Amino acid sequence: MKKIGLFLLSVLGITSVTAQVNLDSLVIKKISDDIFMNGQAYSNLRYLCKQVGPRLSGSSGAALAVEQTARMLREAGADTVYLQPCMVPKWERGAKEVGKATLSNGKTMTLNIVALGMSVGTPASGITASIVEVKSFAELEALGADQVKGKIVFYNFRMDPRHINTFRAYGEAGVYRSQGPSRAAALGAIGVIVRTLSPVIDDNPHTGATRYEEGKPKIPAVAISTLGAEELSKAIAAKQVKQVYIKTNCRQLDDVLSYNVIGEIKGTTFPDEIITVGGHLDSWDLAEGAHDDGTGCVQSIEVLRALKAVGGQPKRTVRAVMFMNEENGLRGGTKYAEIAKNEGKKFIMAMESDAGGFTPRGFGFTANSLQKEKLMNWKPLFHPYGALEFNEGGGGADIGPLRGLGTALIGLNPDSQRYMDLHHAKTDVFEAVSERELNLGTVVMTAMVYLVAQYGL
Ligand SMILES: [Zn+2]
Repeated sequence: MKKIGLFLLSVLGITSVTAQVNLDSLVIKKISDDIFMNGQAYSNLRYLCKQVGPRLSGSSGAALAVEQTARMLREAGADTVYLQPCMVPKWERGAKEVGKATLSNGKTMTLNIVALGMSVGTPASGITASIVEVKSFAELEALGADQVKGKIVFYNFRMDPRHINTFRAYGEAGVYRSQGPSRAAALGAIGVIVRTLSPVIDDNPHTGATRYEEGKPKIPAVAISTLGAEELSKAIAAKQVKQVYIKTNCRQLDDVLSYNVIGEIKGTTFPDEIITVGGHLDSWDLAEGAHDDGTGCVQSIEVLRALKAVGGQPKRTVRAVMFMNEENGLRGGTKYAEIAKNEGKKFIMAMESDAGGFTPRGFGFTANSLQKEKLMNWKPLFHPYGALEFNEGGGGADIGPLRGLGTALIGLNPDSQRYMDLHHAKTDVFEAVSERELNLGTVVMTAMVYLVAQYGL
């Protein structure tokens, strides 16, 4: 009898779990249908890219983006929309950079360069020096101060195309952009040219932040297009380059006041359990910041709209956050976590979309084992939408500081093949985003937020 009872219970248990899964898959289908039929993400993205445009921290574009995304959040049905003040660095590019190489045949080779973000500018007369090419820090160190002093160092590290995930290749190559200037300056270099971090050979230089090391001289740093890097390298190998001239006009100004933009739907049952979903509102100055990270912002706004459209109020509080200053300071993400620490609420999960608005492949999790087990159990619900990869590790730069509060971090992982082609370049425009891919990403984000809002984590 006892055995039969247990058997019956387990059958009933399985049945109720199955029923629950069916119910959840129906809700997720409703979310998907609503996003594809009534979604606002694409039109919001058009506005953000075309009416607002570049949104570097401290710029007028960033200020306008704050105002406009607050409006979008209200229109999406957030109960509360508010701005969270934070001070941000203000860096300006100034007039277009000039780069050229004087060749031994008397000709001049134009170098298509852009200043790296946070770089100091050159003197008004520019800098002129001979150039030394290296493919790694090991090569730089081997040259030593003797062969580097007074010169311009050219880091020509090619992003490794063998990595299937382009973020991995980006991470490897990124050290030359971030640490290259200080490491060259330590050996007496007076400027650096860094090969653009992109796997394609084209003539679009990509910017991105560099970081000066305390105590080392700050020298001007620029990125050259990948095509330019190949041509410059060939000319150097043929011993044709006599001198290189670089002129940049960028400068660092005092910090200014800016904001994270937050829209919230209060939870009905557990209002003090907070789910954060966000992207970063700032972009580099060269681009419309469509994939980086306009898509993450409009997707997060859309999560609120879609949740309301299919179910009214979620059980737990859902916050869409447009983080300010991811690109050159992370001040917004840092401020959000700092305030969260003192809010007296439970920040159970944070999700970020900051890897482009491409077809979603899945998620990456930074969470404890119980949280991971729960997340893995939901995996089959995502199969119809192609989000099949549930991987260990991931999150996002802006939500990273929340980890200290025990928050489970989730990063949306879209297909990475085309992202680095346009990342931080003028080609990162609205037209490079597919409406369907953007919407599909939003569907899986909303589904995940719905599940956590419903069942906790
Ligand atoms: Zn980004």
